[in-house]
Amino acid sequence: MNNDFENLRKEILVCQKCQLSKQRTNVVFGEGKFDAKIMCIGEGPGRDEDIQGRPFVGRSGQLLDKILGVCGFSRAENVFIGNIVKCRPPENRAPLPQERETCIPYLLKQIEIINPKIIVLLGATALNGLIDPNLKITKVRGNWIEWNGRLAMPTFHPAALLRNPNLKKDSWEDFKKIVQKYRELVDENHKSDYC
Ligand code: SF4
Repeated sequence: MNNDFENLRKEILVCQKCQLSKQRTNVVFGEGKFDAKIMCIGEGPGRDEDIQGRPFVGRSGQLLDKILGVCGFSRAENVFIGNIVKCRPPENRAPLPQERETCIPYLLKQIEIINPKIIVLLGATALNGLIDPNLKITKVRGNWIEWNGRLAMPTFHPAALLRNPNLKKDSWEDFKKIVQKYRELVDENHKSDYC
């Protein structure tokens, strides 16, 4: 295990830099390989994630794992999953700008250590928090964005797919591009049940 990664984990797990520390049950550091080539970034922990201290473990997480699995990806093999903020906002509200700004250096450090080739931005908060607060997920999803020498693919958050199944078709198109890019950049023999 990478020492920088473990030191960062220790630091984040006791962080009290913003008000979200007050009501959390657990800090959700993120999960997956420390040298993953794909990094998925969501908004922040929900109720289940707060209880378990793991990202994307509720219904949204099960859907994300299913999508990743069909594409031949998994947390155990080639994906790290993190969030814009690492503590649960009360009542599952979106993180406030100040909370995002306070927490984002941790995510940037994780990206630096993990060094992924592909970043998957799950929903508006991830897109706006990491790339540009003015971009609209409905406008830019499905299009590669060059960011700090990496490629980022904005797509819908799995929670949005659960709320509106009509979005799933677009989401599958986005993940098709991710599989193709993974073959181009990481493993030309990558196997996927999907494409
Ligand atoms: S959300 Fe981030 S900055 Fe705020 S307390 Fe949690 S780890 Fe620290």
